[in-house]
Amino acid sequence: MSQSKLDIIRKKVREHQNDTRYEHTLGVMYTAAALAMRYNEDMDKALIAGLLHDCAKGYSSQMKLDLCREYQLPVSEAEEKNPGLLHAKLGAYLADKEYNITDEEILDAITWHTTGRPDMTLLDKIIYIADYIEPNRNQAPNLDNLRHLAFIDLDECLYQILEASLQYLLSRDEVIDPMTEKTYLYYKDVFQKETGKE
Ligand code: FE
Ligand code: FE
Repeated sequence: MSQSKLDIIRKKVREHQNDTRYEHTLGVMYTAAALAMRYNEDMDKALIAGLLHDCAKGYSSQMKLDLCREYQLPVSEAEEKNPGLLHAKLGAYLADKEYNITDEEILDAITWHTTGRPDMTLLDKIIYIADYIEPNRNQAPNLDNLRHLAFIDLDECLYQILEASLQYLLSRDEVIDPMTEKTYLYYKDVFQKETGKE
């Protein structure tokens, strides 16, 4: 990919995000690139997916619902209750329509970056994990270990993040997208089969 294409997308994203969100975006973009180097994923795909993963996050809840209706994107019960969840699939839609990204792997990684999904692609995992561990994050427990683990064992890192995320949502009584639970159970199974550990 030409540098200018990434630059063009980056400038446009910059115009739509406040400073904090843009710093997070760059953090995810470069963390995803580093993970792509480690796991032999296409670095350009990781950069673009990282850059665009939160491109729809800035809209209000009502606007997210309205846009999904306008673009005929399905809204689940969980998303109706917590429209924030919609920024993922809405982001993939905008990545396609507004940023001319047609690569399905990139669009999928954006779509699934919030909940994950069973049997994630390598790029899905990289974006999901980069979103959680990028250097500007400082709230989640155990971040130092997870950052280390991401470059040692991607699946174990993924499993640990899924478990922590689910526990966090449960503890705060937040609306849980059924896909988050499904993904967690899927990777719990994978992890137990691989390691024999609980
Ligand atoms: Fe997000
Ligand atoms: Fe994010």
